[in-house]
Amino acid sequence: METLSLWINGQRIAATGARSGEIFNPATGELIRRVALADTNDVARAVAAAKAALPGWRATTPLRRARILTRFRELMEQHRDELAQIASEEHGKTLADAAGSVQRGIEVIEFACGVPHLLKGEHAEDVGRGVDCHSLLQPVGVCAGITPFNFPVMVPLWMFPVAIACGNTFVLKPSEKVPSCSLRMAELFQAAGLPDGVLNVVPGDKEAVDALLTHADVRAVSFVGSTPVAKYIYETAARHGKRVQALGGAKNHAVVMPDADLDFTADALIGAAYGSAGERCMAISTVVAVGEAGDALVSKLKALAAKLKIGSGEVASVDMGPVISSAHRDRIAGLIDSGVTQGATLLLDGRGIRVPGCEQGFFVGPTLFDQVTPEMEIYREEIFGPVLIVLRVANLDEAITLVNRNPYGNGTAIFTRSGAAARRFENEIEVGMVGINVPIPVPMAFFSFGGWKASLFGDLHMHGMEGVWFYTRTKAVTSRWPSEPDAASGGLVMPIM
Ligand code: NAD
Repeated sequence: METLSLWINGQRIAATGARSGEIFNPATGELIRRVALADTNDVARAVAAAKAALPGWRATTPLRRARILTRFRELMEQHRDELAQIASEEHGKTLADAAGSVQRGIEVIEFACGVPHLLKGEHAEDVGRGVDCHSLLQPVGVCAGITPFNFPVMVPLWMFPVAIACGNTFVLKPSEKVPSCSLRMAELFQAAGLPDGVLNVVPGDKEAVDALLTHADVRAVSFVGSTPVAKYIYETAARHGKRVQALGGAKNHAVVMPDADLDFTADALIGAAYGSAGERCMAISTVVAVGEAGDALVSKLKALAAKLKIGSGEVASVDMGPVISSAHRDRIAGLIDSGVTQGATLLLDGRGIRVPGCEQGFFVGPTLFDQVTPEMEIYREEIFGPVLIVLRVANLDEAITLVNRNPYGNGTAIFTRSGAAARRFENEIEVGMVGINVPIPVPMAFFSFGGWKASLFGDLHMHGMEGVWFYTRTKAVTSRWPSEPDAASGGLVMPIM
């Protein structure tokens, strides 16, 4: 059986230690390959390669960096189907969904291709008499990225193209459950002309993460994953003097007003709740039905969810694939049990589903709960599976209070025909990404992606201008060129007003 290796200094190389992880096809439950798990020595080798490549890459002009990124973008387009197929095989999502997520990642490369423009600083003439000031955006150095299992292509692409475009070098620690796409992207970037050592990939687990968080030569850490780990990453990396952006988990609410078009809304919510088997950080997992919207909406949701076709993501007609592992399937089933025990109304039960031809796969069928209350475990926990819960409230005030009380703040949506309700929601809601009649409001690459509250530890979001600011340090230069009479009259007097 194949064991995937590490990618350091432009080559696939074996790990020094003997530890390896198992990669499954979640649709069949089969062990399909293994991956070497990087240890502290391997991480040190990767950081050393990134550090050695830094002076040359930093000195490469932004225009030349952009040209390499443009070639990388073209290669990613050419290999889109191959990457989608690997993502689907290792993660379980449908091929169409995987291809869509590859496309969203490619859009970040497109954004990064504009780096000569993005790195322009500010300039002010005559900040004092005969004195000018300008600012530079310079790379921070060796950056590290740590990514989750649920977007094997897109989430790494939120990070390394922007960091590298800005003149940094990078060490990527992809999820050990889905490492193949990251290794393949590193090869494609090399084929596009990226010098060796600028991008390194070290599949691994906590040992590799800890080695990155504490390594003196790593200057910045980007993380996407669950909230407890995000908090740990933020605290540990900050204690070791690094800048950190750590995106965490989510519990995304959709508020449905009584005036919403309920057919349109139900259709949108089905895709948002059950797409990718609910394993999206922007999945809608919670519906807040306002007033009389409730009964009609719930019956439409039930009818649509019951029709979803479950199976291997590689089969074209399938709507929803498996979840990532047997352990995760069992955790979701346990949470469904708790919903029943705690008194929610179970309208569709996905436990114990059998998929013909995929009997050993890690499947949970679409599950729908009504009459859920905020004390229940199925409301408090991020389930990260195909389980949609409905809470009922009387009016928009109650809906906004409910969303704002939730500790997470990644995404949210409102469905309404009222501009006034939408405007108030947009203004008062304490969530980083808001959709108005848009169920999954993932910002395009030229805006920034990130949540609030327990969904983000750190200050800056990913990609867009916030990504550029995260991966650069600002330097302000104040300059004066004394003319001869000035020089004769003496030096600069501070303060210079
Ligand atoms: P995870 O937190 O278990 O793992 C994420 C990364 O951290 C992986 O690379 C993993 O190897 C590493 N890791 C895991 N445990 C660790 C530990 N104890 N110490 C150090 N490193 C550790 O997350 P996951 O299960 O891979 O992904 C699902 C989670 O990611 C969900 O909570 C989801 O909401 C979240 N997510 C958030 C966003 C976002 O943009 N906010 C996007 C995608 C996924």
